[in-house]
Amino acid sequence: MKYEAVIGLEVHVQVRTKSKMFCSCPNRYGAEPNTLVCPVCMGYPGTLPVPNHEAIRKAVKAGLLTECTIAGFSKFDRKSYFYPDLVKNYQISQYDLPFCVKGRLAIGGKGFSGEPVADKFVGITRIHLEEDPAKLSHGGGASGADYNRSGVPLLEVVSEPDMRSADEAYAYLCALKEIMRYGDISDCDMEKGQMRCDVNISLRPFGQKEFGTKIELKNLNSFRAAHRAVEYETWRQADILDKGGSLRQETRGWNDENGESYLMRTKEQAHDYRYFPDPDLLPVTLAEADVEDIRASLPELPAAKRERFLREYGLTEYDAGVLTSDRFIADYFDAAARASSSPKLVANWVISELLWELGNAKTDIRDCRISPADLAGLVELIDKAVINGKIAKEVFSEMFAKGGAAKAIVEARGLAQVSDSGAIASVVTEAIKANPAQVEQYRAGNAKVLQFLVGQVMKLSRGKANPQLAIAELKKQL
Ligand code: ADP
Ligand code: ZN
Ligand code: MG
Repeated sequence: MKYEAVIGLEVHVQVRTKSKMFCSCPNRYGAEPNTLVCPVCMGYPGTLPVPNHEAIRKAVKAGLLTECTIAGFSKFDRKSYFYPDLVKNYQISQYDLPFCVKGRLAIGGKGFSGEPVADKFVGITRIHLEEDPAKLSHGGGASGADYNRSGVPLLEVVSEPDMRSADEAYAYLCALKEIMRYGDISDCDMEKGQMRCDVNISLRPFGQKEFGTKIELKNLNSFRAAHRAVEYETWRQADILDKGGSLRQETRGWNDENGESYLMRTKEQAHDYRYFPDPDLLPVTLAEADVEDIRASLPELPAAKRERFLREYGLTEYDAGVLTSDRFIADYFDAAARASSSPKLVANWVISELLWELGNAKTDIRDCRISPADLAGLVELIDKAVINGKIAKEVFSEMFAKGGAAKAIVEARGLAQVSDSGAIASVVTEAIKANPAQVEQYRAGNAKVLQFLVGQVMKLSRGKANPQLAIAELKKQL
């Protein structure tokens, strides 16, 4: 292709707080529609908004995590537009004085298809705080509005047009989500609408300095959709340019079912939001000390955590990468590893069993029934050869389903490994008696048959025999 794609993202992230941005209604997903509302978020005349300091702190945190300059003086503005998702006919947002400006975010890792993405920084133009509008739903010949979402604190993170491919846009979204979760700013659960993104994209011939005409794609509700939309749009614009056509600035929607973008509005129909300072809200001043206070609360970031996991727990690069890919997975592992004398074994169990089961059950690690200490307890039983790997999986399954300590489950179900030499000897004798043909083959020199006989011993002991002792005893009796 002779064109280079130029991409800038505008990402909305719901801030996780107890209450909404300007009233005391709970900020909670999943309640019966229109039950988490009050006169303030329903825009009744005569009510006054009161800013949520927790949300402001988290906005500043987001700015610090992306190396932004934090504004000492900031204010809220009214953005006027008329649509049923907004009761007041304006949204409280920030116009010319956002909380955070001029930052950057490191991207890298892998793109959507698993191809590596070269390390680079994407500029952050600004991060501002606003209120989320209501959630509209359409269907069955009617439309509904759920104002529970109206007034939920929302961060808008605007990037510089620094990305050049769908994979870079994807990597940016991953990095942003990672940092938002690390900072405990948002869970960024896209299925719950906690992270939503608009993609701006233009093409220019390779080598040209000026940007081409920008097209905005709205409401991409998964990283996959964002990636597909960029690929599709790159192709669509290139096709128009190739045919000698020209592009005009427009806003398009993305239909994920058809895999196509469609026209929503052109520049001529562009909104005039008539921003002006909200007279009901005082400007926000942040003293240096306030910002430093927030800076002191910043979490250890993924790269630092990876380093520490390598050093402290002797993990492989790969394991450290998987375990730090998410803040809460990292916290879980960290706690379990601290409680254990075999952190590498703990890492194996988290990566190969726990994450797999959680994925299967679509459960967040924070809701996992196995506590980090209990996982460490399970690993200890394996390490001390109280149970073998096979039994451990069984115990793990029960812990995953019902919770509880490994030791208690092993005791209650009599699963402890049998290492008593007398008991093992009698099972081995039994196995030898029951399999004369294989015994003969072994004695005739076919050493491979031993594995079969070990299997029989394990079966007769219902998986409880200590395999090393079983092998030794078999060799002895044979
Ligand atoms: P608008 O005034 O239309 O909101 P902005 O300049 O504020 O446009 O930019 C909005 C988003 O579009 C930003 O993320 C920015 O990086 C991106 N953007 C701006 N110009 C281009 C361009 N020519 N191609 C791709 N993205 C662009
Ligand atoms: Zn309210
Ligand atoms: Mg803009």
